Amino acid sequence: MTPSGLNVDRANPALVDPFGRAISYLRVSVTDRCDFRCVYCMSENMTFLPKADVLSLEELDRLCSTFVHRGVRKLRLTGGEPLVRRGIMTLVASLSRHLTSGALDELTLTTNGSQLKKYATELAACGIKRINVSLDTLDPDKFRAITRWGELAIVREGIDAARAAGLAVKINAVALKGVNEDEFSGLLEWAHGDGMDLTIIEVMPLGDIGEDRLEQYLPLSIVRASLAERYTLEDIDYQTGGPARYVRVAETGGRLGFITPLTHNFCESCNRVRVTCTGTLFMCLGQEDAADLRAPLRASTSNDLLNAAIDEAITRKPRGHDFVIDRHHKRPALARHMSMTGG
Ligand code: SAM
Repeated sequence: MTPSGLNVDRANPALVDPFGRAISYLRVSVTDRCDFRCVYCMSENMTFLPKADVLSLEELDRLCSTFVHRGVRKLRLTGGEPLVRRGIMTLVASLSRHLTSGALDELTLTTNGSQLKKYATELAACGIKRINVSLDTLDPDKFRAITRWGELAIVREGIDAARAAGLAVKINAVALKGVNEDEFSGLLEWAHGDGMDLTIIEVMPLGDIGEDRLEQYLPLSIVRASLAERYTLEDIDYQTGGPARYVRVAETGGRLGFITPLTHNFCESCNRVRVTCTGTLFMCLGQEDAADLRAPLRASTSNDLLNAAIDEAITRKPRGHDFVIDRHHKRPALARHMSMTGG
């Protein structure tokens, strides 16, 4: 039985790591490519993977479905930018069968919003209820400077299209020192005014971006203290199965989340693993250890090898990560970019 009480594959039981944490949440990066080049995420000149290394849509489906049969209840498609993967809606439509069958509680995605106008209606038709849209500023010039290639107006149209299609939207903003630190009350008023949750994220030291991380790092303890001078922040129990901790903002009535991998991690309740578009399984966002699932996936049409590789990998899920950004740790903690593991 899964933690939620539903039956999973009898021969291959639910995934529980050595610390007793059930793995119920899978995040899958469906492409390493993106139509933005956010300064904290990628360098401007990225080398992307050759096509043959990337899992096909059918392989991604098989991989995700294997995890669903092993007790995963929440599946998030991410990237790179998931909506620039060619044929992405074929995968979404196919995976939605697990919603229909009741095997999955939630199918969702994290997107930069650039393609939402095109896909919002189809996403809603596939049973997607909520999406996360990454947006760090409401200033068009700053938006262009942060994303290098992005257009704020297009993203805002995408968000409007998603809302019109009935999707709940959560805005994710990365806190960047000296860049958007004066904007959180504006973002909050805008998001809550439009019925959207807002989550603020600490910048993580992932991948070489050609810039100094210390220059970007803004601890959320500072952001929270400054918001608390203006708003009443009430701790609430709300959980989405992710790492955010939420407060309700009394003045707006909306929810505000904080994701604080540096100042306070929540590894003890981690229920997640991540798969890259090449089928590499990362048991922790903040550690290098990984398992290759592409070889067992491609070696046989049966899922036995794949299940065995997943089982072995879960025995190696670490207790937690230990990101540090300070004067002595300016280099990335990990060589890989967020666009590879999927945020
Ligand atoms: N393209 C999609 C998007 O923009 O949401 C999905 C992939 S993106 C890598 C997922 C999230 O990771 C975004 O919210 C992005 O801001 C965040 N992100 C990227 N690099 C990060 C870093 N070094 N630290 C914290 N968040 C990061």
